[in-house]
Amino acid sequence: MDLKGKGMLVVLSGPSGSGKDTVLEKLKDSDFSFDKTISATTRAMRDGEKDGVDYYFVDKSTFEERINNQEFLEYTIYNDNYYGTPKSEVEKHIDKGGCILLKIEVEGAGNVRKAMPEALSIFIIPPSMEELERRLRGRGTETEESFKKRFKTAKDELSRANEYDYIVINDDIALCAEQIVKILESEKLRYCRMANIVKNIIEE
Ligand code: 5GP
Repeated sequence: MDLKGKGMLVVLSGPSGSGKDTVLEKLKDSDFSFDKTISATTRAMRDGEKDGVDYYFVDKSTFEERINNQEFLEYTIYNDNYYGTPKSEVEKHIDKGGCILLKIEVEGAGNVRKAMPEALSIFIIPPSMEELERRLRGRGTETEESFKKRFKTAKDELSRANEYDYIVINDDIALCAEQIVKILESEKLRYCRMANIVKNIIEE
C-alpha cells in the first residue's frame, strides 16, 4: 500500500493501563479530525461492545482464512487471540488525504512501520510503574495471577518505547490528548506531506 501524497497513517500504542482508550475518546472531542480503523479480532465481545463498531468479531477459522487471503495490513496474537488491521479499513480512508489512526499493540506497530516507514507512531505511557499498578488493580476484576500477567506484559511493551517516534505521558487525559493533537498538527506540515502543495505553488 503506497501512502505517498495520501493520508497520514498514525499508529497509536500504549500498554494496558496507559489509558490510551480514554485518551482516544478525548481526541474524538478535539477539533482534529481523523478516521479510526476498525480491527478484526477473535477475542470474545465484552459488555457494551458492538460488532462492526469496536471490532469485527470473527472466529479463528475466519480470521485464519483472511490471513491466507492476505487481507490484513498487519496482524498479531495478543493474549491468545488474533488481532488484525484489515487492509480494506485503511483503503477506505486513505484517498481522503486525512489522518488515519490505528490503535494497535507494539508487535503490530512494528509490522506497520516495516511495511510503511512513513507511518507515524505515538506511544502513550503511564507516569510511573506505581501508577500503572494502581490503574490495573483499580479495575477490580483482576485476580492476582491475571494482574501479574498484565503487569508483565505492560512492562515488556514499555521496554519497546524506543521504537516509537513520539512518547506521550498520560498523567492527565486532557493534556495527553492536547499533546497528541499538537504532534499530529505539526506532522501534517512535514515536507513529505506538503511536497505536492509546494510543487503546485512553485509551478503556479
Ligand atoms: P483489547 O482486547 O483490550 O481491546 O485490545 C488488546 C490490545 O490489542 C490493545 O493493545 C489494542 O490496541 C490491540 N489491538 C487492537 N486491534 C489491533 C490490531 O488490529 N492489531 C494489533 N496488532 N493490535 C491490536
